[in-house]
Amino acid sequence: MASMQRSVPQQAGDRTAGLPTAKIVKRQDYTDDLFNIWLEPSVPFTFKPGQYITIGAGGIERPYSIASSPHERLIELFIEFVKPEHGGKLTPLLYAQRVADVVTMRPRPKGIFTFQEKYHNHVLVGTVTGVAPYASMLRNHFHNGKTGHRFFVMEGASHFDEFVYDKEFLEFARRYPGVVEFVGTVSRPQAERNQGWTGLTGRVNTLVERCCDGWGLPQDDTLIYLCGNPGMIEDVKARMGGKGWNVMEERFWKDD
Ligand SMILES: Cc1cc2nc3c(=O)[nH]c(=O)nc-3n(C[C@H](O)[C@H](O)[C@H](O)COP(=O)(O)OP(=O)(O)OC[C@H]3O[C@@H](n4cnc5c(N)ncnc54)[C@H](O)[C@@H]3O)c2cc1C
Repeated sequence: MASMQRSVPQQAGDRTAGLPTAKIVKRQDYTDDLFNIWLEPSVPFTFKPGQYITIGAGGIERPYSIASSPHERLIELFIEFVKPEHGGKLTPLLYAQRVADVVTMRPRPKGIFTFQEKYHNHVLVGTVTGVAPYASMLRNHFHNGKTGHRFFVMEGASHFDEFVYDKEFLEFARRYPGVVEFVGTVSRPQAERNQGWTGLTGRVNTLVERCCDGWGLPQDDTLIYLCGNPGMIEDVKARMGGKGWNVMEERFWKDD
């Protein structure tokens, strides 16, 4: 039977020529710019929770934090479509892709933004797609039946329909009371899209200190993970790092 796979044509001199590929086997859209894709790699691909994969199309490559756990067969990515008028290069190509299309992939994962076992309290702060590595960490932790750690997931977004992983984190919190907490906060509470939102409001960076105090976290046995928007990361580092908290970061792009 003829194959229906599409891949974006490569350019002459393309550094991605000859790289392994991954097939998009599932896709789900949430808003007009947020979507998940699930990839089936053409070669074995192992990684640690928190690491990223580099994928490409049309010779353009970008890193993506992996949301799935290593025990899952498919690689799950949570992607924000950056429109071309806002500088997006790869994401317009990815956004146009459908199930059965293929992307290139680097065969090895990268990154040191991984679960740090030596701490017992993990404050996982992310902006929108920045929660992807935390989904991987929690799925892996509970799949392996590990105990002795507590997780405090904090997600910030402009609108609550951008949380996407909130249901999963809340389900972990329900199944593991006292072990997992989830806090979502919207930065534009007056927006029409946020009608009906009854949770926290304000930028997530402004809430980290209050939440850490409220949870009674010990500074020397807590690691604050920061992932996503560089402005959020800078601000939390200034507020918390300066007071002696342990902080680790993964920036998705450079601040202008
Ligand atoms: C280690 C690492 C992990 C990453 N993981 C993810 C991930 O899980 N999901 C994801 O969507 N992106 C992730 N990114 C960003 C991703 O690599 C791309 O930069 C992004 O998808 C935009 O690609 P682009 O080629 O369309 O635009 P680019 O040329 O890469 O960027 C153009 C501009 O878009 C803005 N931008 C970039 N990424 C985002 C974003 N996520 N949200 C809002 N604005 C953005 C910035 O202003 C940037 O200057 C990660 C980046 C790094 C370094």
